[in-house]
Amino acid sequence: MADTHAWQPTRPFSRALVVAAHPDDAEFGAAGTIARWVAMGTDVRYLVVTDGASGSADPAMTRERLRVLREAEQRAACAALGVSDVTFLGYDDGYLESTLALRRQVAATIRRHRPEAIITFDPQVRWRRDGIVNHPDHRAVGEVVLDCINPAASTRLWDPTLIDEGLEPWDVAEVWLMAFGQGEVVVDISETFERKIAALRAHETQLAGWDPTGRVSEWTARHGERIGAAHGEAFDVLRLRVLDEDGSLPVRDKPPTNAKPAR
Ligand SMILES: [Zn+2]
Repeated sequence: MADTHAWQPTRPFSRALVVAAHPDDAEFGAAGTIARWVAMGTDVRYLVVTDGASGSADPAMTRERLRVLREAEQRAACAALGVSDVTFLGYDDGYLESTLALRRQVAATIRRHRPEAIITFDPQVRWRRDGIVNHPDHRAVGEVVLDCINPAASTRLWDPTLIDEGLEPWDVAEVWLMAFGQGEVVVDISETFERKIAALRAHETQLAGWDPTGRVSEWTARHGERIGAAHGEAFDVLRLRVLDEDGSLPVRDKPPTNAKPAR
């Protein structure tokens, strides 16, 4: 953790996209950061890939009822954070695979919203020694997003039917990976911690009466301590291009991919 540092933006992102596997993923991992970005003026949208229909231990619950409840909960959480739009792709919770069809859907969303930053999962996290086996849906979503960065969202002719739909390629500047607290970039969320808790409370079926404040503040305080803040959220941030000063379109001045020297 020698390279841990606090996030210090040169300017707010104009647009950001959060790509989550389940309703509640982004609130646990990134809601304080999302609320901070919204407060800075960033247009933050969500793409939730599965329907969350597996997430209940209640013997009286059915998948059909749960998917309706969880979509409403995610909308309420997004409202609490000031997120401008949330799209549900409706894949079956617990069965997600990194398919070309899903890659095309995510790429289309990226090309449509043109986010400078994307928050998603680190697909490399398979387990952690302190007691986490990562959910396969989380890994699949992270993999699909990275496969959109290169090539599906950024390469003009990857799927010409996207161009037919008016969806020109887009280069994302930064990918923020939720790595279950292992990231080196820590965002100070002291000012937005309460909003994170409010967004988490929207996920009533997942909390089942549990108050998230104590446990979540233990996590966020541990990350905050790394940068001298009361609360923090940690990410691994891939910086893919320099943010232009005014938030205009990126200059496509890089050589074609196949012209790069072999490494
Ligand atoms: Zn999840």
